[in-house]
Amino acid sequence: MTAKPFGPIPPEFAALSELPWLDVHTPAYVYDFAVVAARVALLRAALPARIGVHYAIKANPFPPLLERIAPLVDGMDVASAGEMGHALDVMTASHVSFAGPGKRDTELEATIRAGVTLNLESIAEGQRALAIGKALGVTPRLAVRVNPDFELRGSGMKMGGRASPFGIERAHVPELVKHLIGEGAEWRGLHIFAGSQSLDTEAIIATQAATVELAAQLAEECGAVPPLVNLGGGFGIPYFPGDTPVDVGAIGAALAGAIGKLDTAYAVELGRWLVGEAGVYLARVVDRKESQGETFLIVEGGLNHHLAATGNFGTVVRRNYPVAVAHRMQDPAEEVVTIVGPLCTPLDRLADRVALPRAEVGDMIAVFASGAYGATASPSAFLGHPAAGEVVV
Ligand SMILES: *Cc1c(COP(=O)(O)O)cnc(C)c1O
Repeated sequence: MTAKPFGPIPPEFAALSELPWLDVHTPAYVYDFAVVAARVALLRAALPARIGVHYAIKANPFPPLLERIAPLVDGMDVASAGEMGHALDVMTASHVSFAGPGKRDTELEATIRAGVTLNLESIAEGQRALAIGKALGVTPRLAVRVNPDFELRGSGMKMGGRASPFGIERAHVPELVKHLIGEGAEWRGLHIFAGSQSLDTEAIIATQAATVELAAQLAEECGAVPPLVNLGGGFGIPYFPGDTPVDVGAIGAALAGAIGKLDTAYAVELGRWLVGEAGVYLARVVDRKESQGETFLIVEGGLNHHLAATGNFGTVVRRNYPVAVAHRMQDPAEEVVTIVGPLCTPLDRLADRVALPRAEVGDMIAVFASGAYGATASPSAFLGHPAAGEVVV
């Protein structure tokens, strides 16, 4: 049986002989906060001081994690009223912004009342926000999300350069901004997010330069300097064989050169890059079986807990996330196994033909790079198994 490769284990864990959480109640996600703090520190060291760091909480909205991230970042970006509630538990409203299409009137009202910035995704949404602000007698804080005329190359999820439910066409932005200001709203600036999960440092640099340039042009056309230019995020993390990390030092150096054009505050909003490598999904082996020459390890959870690792969350070709037997991290491989969850579907495959030390029933399997778009991005109700626990250490 030839083995298929799996992705790189994050550096903080790769050299361990065993994971420190062998007695955690499984199935569970463990988030190692030291890894998050290290990523924030790396980013801060790389970026010019004028660029704030925001956390896009949809990557991982686990409240105890938000509580620990809050003091390290300059803002939080949310995508629903539910997320906004979590963010406001740990951060003042003026540092929170709410993006995403289809905000209902109740969400707009809650946002305006709270003093959170709305990133407008359509002209109609802007009109509704103005009307709700007037009805409440509260000045709405409004930023405009721009659908840029370019996209982030090498990005797994493209969010610009095409017809899009996200953001407002570049051509309509100046008129809208003037209208918002004319109607008495507090204009909070521009939000331009061109794509997600790119490992291509040069592409990120080029996109950010184009974003800064676009913001400068729009500022001129609006006749007003945006108080904040949110440059979006999109930094990827290594998941698969051959993936290498983005070079944040190079990104920071390039940004330092680019932002001279417009004298304002900037922010990057990152989700995955800040928390993705900090998370490990842990599940114990429930059964081992042979079938037609293949060995299957059946573990406590699969796509119901970790949709992305099974290749069912926006991936075209299924490849293996980094995996290990949790108490035998440095032991030589002894067998080739396919690791599946307990769900009655062939889609429920956490690792396909990976070479690992032998794991017995009761042993713990670890899936790395699991801190972002894991627990809350998985259909935990599907088949009715218990949800995975979550813990920050
Ligand atoms: C999802 C999202 C992000 C975070 O993207 P990552 O790829 O996790 O960094 C940032 N901004 C907006 C508007 C988003 O929707």
